[in-house]
Amino acid sequence: MLKQLRPVAALTGATLFTASLSPTSSSPSSPPAQCAWGSFPSADPKADPLDDYPYFSPWHRSAMRRNMTPDIYAKLLPLKTSTGYTINDLIQCGCSTGYTLPRNMGVMTGDPECYTVFAPLLNPIIRDYHDFSESSQHVTDLDPTHLKKLNQQDLDPKKKYILSSRIRVSRSIEGIPFPAAASRSQMRRVESLTERACQYLSGTLSGMYVHLNDMTNEENDDLIQRHILFDNPDEWATQAGLGRNWPDARGVYMNVHDVDANPDFIVWINEEDHLRIMVLQKGGNIFHVFEQLVAGVNEIERGLNKQGAKFLHDDRLGFVTGCPTNLGTGMRASMHVKLIHLGSKPGFKDMCKRMGLEVRGKHGERDNRNSGIFDISNRHRLGYSEVELIQLVMDGVRTLIELEQKLEKGEDADCSKMFNAV
Ligand code: ADP
Ligand code: MG
Repeated sequence: MLKQLRPVAALTGATLFTASLSPTSSSPSSPPAQCAWGSFPSADPKADPLDDYPYFSPWHRSAMRRNMTPDIYAKLLPLKTSTGYTINDLIQCGCSTGYTLPRNMGVMTGDPECYTVFAPLLNPIIRDYHDFSESSQHVTDLDPTHLKKLNQQDLDPKKKYILSSRIRVSRSIEGIPFPAAASRSQMRRVESLTERACQYLSGTLSGMYVHLNDMTNEENDDLIQRHILFDNPDEWATQAGLGRNWPDARGVYMNVHDVDANPDFIVWINEEDHLRIMVLQKGGNIFHVFEQLVAGVNEIERGLNKQGAKFLHDDRLGFVTGCPTNLGTGMRASMHVKLIHLGSKPGFKDMCKRMGLEVRGKHGERDNRNSGIFDISNRHRLGYSEVELIQLVMDGVRTLIELEQKLEKGEDADCSKMFNAV
């Protein structure tokens, strides 16, 4: 039986990050390891850095692969952040799985310092992936009333096409390394801070926190199948360092008091980010979903503030997250849409891409099957405000439904020719 709201561990002071460039090879405080068979320096200071250069096949197609050069690698190889994160940690997920999984960023940061220490690689990647330059400034807009009036209602009142709407935002807690580099105790601190912040939630947001440690495999699988819980780490997540110490300090908060009930406000702890806060509801009223999400996020932030903690936010990059795909808004606004005809047309996914939309399968990013039901969401997260992106998803889904209706009537819709890139 799942436990509810376990007592929270005592809080300790947060360590703040200070940007530092410390060469690993010349550090006098780390003598080579000694054992009966000799000593093994972690890196030979005289070795050519290119002897360590990663192998890339023609199937490595991530933004990291496109922007990595031997010069950048050689320059970044001796550096590490204050959590000890190196260029090799940063790129491992893009080296091992570049050609087997549909992840196309190819890096995972371990702490916010990575964005300055490894800027010669990360800035071009961010420009490439988000079309966001070093002089660009991200703007946050979490005010639902800024959405066009037209969109402040259900997109599919007859409930024929849109099954459900979900908006999630990623958030990090300032002063704690991201899940790819955090120690057990640091992850437990994220968990206890969040668990306690959730205890302040009241009314329709009040509920229970469930630890992965306390679930049976069946309970875990049931929550995943019901779209309430994140998946267990796959090969990409493991290579990105996200599977370390799994399932310690991972859990989910839900605004229900019984696991068999269906929550609509959910918080994930220590999956890919410290927090993923989301609202998931049946139907197509994404305006309502956004309103509830903002209310919940604000409540959690207040709960963290009461404990002396806060969300990590940067003037230029917006909300700062482990994976650079989620910088800025950290937001993915998605709708499960039934597009039986349109979804089978050649060029459907590319057309959605040109519309600024991403297409996933019914079970999320690892699901590429065509079940006739697609997860349609914003492709961009950085450089556009939350309101702009939700507007784009609403306009896009409305257009997709109109195209589906044309096809239902026997008219044609040529996906390869429609829409210019956003
Ligand atoms: P993210 O990484 O943005 O949180 P994933 O693709 O990993 O999203 O999916 C996580 C879970 O959320 C999956 O179970 C997926 O099916 C579910 N999900 C995403 N959008 C919706 C939606 N609109 N309705 C129902 N479930 C959704
Ligand atoms: Mg995911």
